[in-house]
Amino acid sequence: MLVNIQNLTKTYKQHQAVKGISFQIEKGKCVALLGPNGAGKTTTLQMLAGLLAPTSGKIQFANTASADFRQRIGFLPQHPTFFPWMTAKEFLQFAGKLSQLSKTMLEDKITETLEFVSLKDVRNKRIGGFSGGMKQRLGLAQALLHEPDLLILDEPVSALDPNGRRDVLEILSKLKREMTILFSTHVLHDAEQVCDSVMILKEGSIMWDGSLDSLKNSQASSAVQIKTA
Ligand code: ATP
Repeated sequence: MLVNIQNLTKTYKQHQAVKGISFQIEKGKCVALLGPNGAGKTTTLQMLAGLLAPTSGKIQFANTASADFRQRIGFLPQHPTFFPWMTAKEFLQFAGKLSQLSKTMLEDKITETLEFVSLKDVRNKRIGGFSGGMKQRLGLAQALLHEPDLLILDEPVSALDPNGRRDVLEILSKLKREMTILFSTHVLHDAEQVCDSVMILKEGSIMWDGSLDSLKNSQASSAVQIKTA
């Protein structure tokens, strides 16, 4: 198992946002974390990425201590911060300084990732003029710079128009051949485009954890009113 979560909880003041969830993710799998607003998706993903301390519970990655593995995670937040006056390339150079790659390796990696997310032709354009889809693809490029083993994406397509959504989902379909992916969404159709399995989160608890095929034969998706398109 690459990810092993046991009895994870998060309480904000009086409100328990995540209520003792347990799950595992096998290396090489793509898993969608599906759930309506307020289900606890962001809270869960931020705890996995090490951005938020759990109230209780255990997070293990590849049987190593979390802190060691965290350098192997690429994370794209729900609302990534971009600097509109920077070009795409400048932004990745800036972000990449944290990646511990040598300057030459970083330049090569920036060229490679910009091509991979189809932003090579606009690498010298300012981010302020980018569409939502282009920004999201730039965020993905940033998350990929250090060649992570696990990619965690918080609602990567929720705010995008159909074209932007299609482009990002196509990129994820290619990426799933190379790394383990966990991404959150409100929409079952997004999961169906890319993933092997889904976990449905509702009010801080996992209502379903299994393959997409088995979900189709169950009532779980309608039970939490997941949108199907
Ligand atoms: P969305 O789809 O709307 O992004 P989500 O499934 O990602 O929702 P979370 O953002 O994890 O859900 O929030 C889970 C619950 O925790 C919600 O009730 C939310 O209001 C609450 N919550 C989240 N962050 C905080 C915080 N910093 N302080 C207090 N409550 C919070």
